[in-house]
Amino acid sequence: MDRDTPITGLKGVGEKTQKLFEKLDIRTVGDLVDTYPRDYDAFREPEKIRQAAPGEVCAIHGVVRCITGEKRVGNLYILSVDAGDETGTLRLTFYNMPFLKKTLRRGGFYIFRGRVSGSGEGCFLRMEQPKIYSMEEYSRLAGHLVPLYSLTKGLTNQAIQKCVRQALAGYVFEEEYYSQEFLRENQLLSRREALETIHFPTTTQDLTQARKRIVFDEFFFFLLRLRRNREEDGQLPNRYRAADGAPADRFLEQLPFPLTGAQARAWKEIREDLAGTWCMNRLVQGDVGSGKTILALLALLTVAAAGYQGALMAPTEVLAAQHFETVRDYVEKYGLAFRPVLLTGSMSAREKRRAREEIESGEANLVIGTHALIQEAVCYRALALVVTDEQHRFGVRQREHLAEKGDSPHVLVMSATPIPRTLAIILYGDLSISVVDELPASRLPIKNCVVGTAYRPKAYKFIAGEVAGGRQAYVICPQVEGDPEDGPEMASMENVMDYSEKLREALPGIRVASLHGKMRPGDKNKIMEDFAARSIDVLVSTTVVEVGINVPNATVMMVENAERFGLAQLHQLRGRVGRGAHQSYCIFVSTSEKTEVMERLKILNKSNDGFFIASEDLRLRGPGELTGVRQSGELSFQVGDIYADAAVLRQASQAAEELLRKDPHLELPQNSAIRGYLEEEGRCTGIRSI
Ligand code: ADP
Ligand code: MG
Repeated sequence: MDRDTPITGLKGVGEKTQKLFEKLDIRTVGDLVDTYPRDYDAFREPEKIRQAAPGEVCAIHGVVRCITGEKRVGNLYILSVDAGDETGTLRLTFYNMPFLKKTLRRGGFYIFRGRVSGSGEGCFLRMEQPKIYSMEEYSRLAGHLVPLYSLTKGLTNQAIQKCVRQALAGYVFEEEYYSQEFLRENQLLSRREALETIHFPTTTQDLTQARKRIVFDEFFFFLLRLRRNREEDGQLPNRYRAADGAPADRFLEQLPFPLTGAQARAWKEIREDLAGTWCMNRLVQGDVGSGKTILALLALLTVAAAGYQGALMAPTEVLAAQHFETVRDYVEKYGLAFRPVLLTGSMSAREKRRAREEIESGEANLVIGTHALIQEAVCYRALALVVTDEQHRFGVRQREHLAEKGDSPHVLVMSATPIPRTLAIILYGDLSISVVDELPASRLPIKNCVVGTAYRPKAYKFIAGEVAGGRQAYVICPQVEGDPEDGPEMASMENVMDYSEKLREALPGIRVASLHGKMRPGDKNKIMEDFAARSIDVLVSTTVVEVGINVPNATVMMVENAERFGLAQLHQLRGRVGRGAHQSYCIFVSTSEKTEVMERLKILNKSNDGFFIASEDLRLRGPGELTGVRQSGELSFQVGDIYADAAVLRQASQAAEELLRKDPHLELPQNSAIRGYLEEEGRCTGIRSI
């Protein structure tokens, strides 16, 4: 059994399970082994009832006092039981488990584990459908870390665990690509140990070590690739001089708003590059809403007016479609020199063919799309500029591919990731950087609130009010669909499908639609178009809307389970509102009301500055936190986090520099495995796509 063995090579995985795995993007045994747990459930020592924090999963060691009620609602059988310890009482509710009435002995001691709800104010703490353990059973689990995988309906955590165990046992591990010396110098576990441990750690220390190796690899190969490109490319001459600034100036005069000071500075830098001696390789870094798109359009327009082609590559179909619409509107309104064409994976074969023909003949001078732009069949006539929006979403490889399409075109990448200069130099070492550190003055600051779930009815009323006033709202849930078999951990997570239903009931007459990453691209586009055209009032979505979506009429962003997201990601989500002239609002709903959680979220109240938020988040969490929230929706490696793992990033950067200094072309025999891995197609692009 090796990387490429189909998943059906595992015992117990038939066609049905294979289909389920496919939904999780797992096709081979290698895919499975590379799909790390998204979190770990630590079976902590039982707590006293008084110490149990509402919203958290707790284990309580209590005695069964009495059965307080049993009833039947429809085909649901509900049993209520009171359990207690010397500090208080816990009310337990069980659904459809009539046998418990006999098996739970009064006066018997058990450990109940589940999510605690309720508060001290005169009512009991509660636990719904807790798992019940005897003390012996629990002590066997206590202190262990149980891996929690991302699930899909029909595939339980336990089933995945079993498959992973089987896979690891029979897996022929690839050759270790680092030398013993390298491992020792960098204090890394072997790849094999790291993989086994990341799936089934015994202690948090083990997990930290395993995680470090995996994060190191992600960074190391990402950086190696980056450095190697830089060496190979060197500085190229500008083959596409586009010195005439008049078309861009005319466009700017017609725009209803002036550029901000920061936009103007960045534009000057870009313009000088386009007209200069050397080929442009520039990163535009600017917070969400700082107006980066206009800069891209100005550059593309300048190139198009000089008779060349430009390409604008977006990370999602939705975003590509949106950029296309924007450009089309501008062309109609201001008579720009663009002949735009859209090219995305979901277009029909005929549409694609037409688009490709226009690109090849040079009829189209602005090509907008997703990574369909870099697929083999597309030939450009005179590609002079490639802009990648939210570039971190693409592997470096993909960027290379697009650049290879032309003959060393200018490259402009745009990112909203707020990172300190020192990290920017490591991560974007090959690029010049323009910073757009100013928001358009016309914006009203967004009003924020961080609330518990009890606030929901008020929030719905508020949304209804905004909709009545002609505005629109987003509601974000962390999951696509729920599964009643999920453990307590997952059950408290809102999901798009059920939430949309709930909202339709709560907001009669309001048009609610759902959007998530598992939908077909065409369907996603349709929903986004309808939302932009205001034929949808409230969009319930996963974080697919996080990247770049611009619907200025939307004024409410409500995020459910806000505690599950990194602050930087919440900040990105917040960036979806406050884009127009209307006052906008963010409602962050937290299921956990623990003080640390609320404190962390309240940072969002204090500031609208992405950089400040990212650094505060890191300060509060401390570096190297194992799992939990994803720090940033951007520049996200599969496991590594550029903020929290900054120390590993620096280490990997040094190791990569050192390696290339000694062996620039990786020709030495001891480095052949590293080279092999680096050159393998589709691997170690470092950055994951959504
Ligand atoms: P981002 O930097 O997040 O990509 P966008 O380019 O999508 O931001 O711009 C957000 C909104 O701000 C758009 O509706 C855009 O038209 C508008 N905008 C851009 N620049 C300015 C400006 N100088 N003044 C006012 N509005 C602007
Ligand atoms: Mg943008």
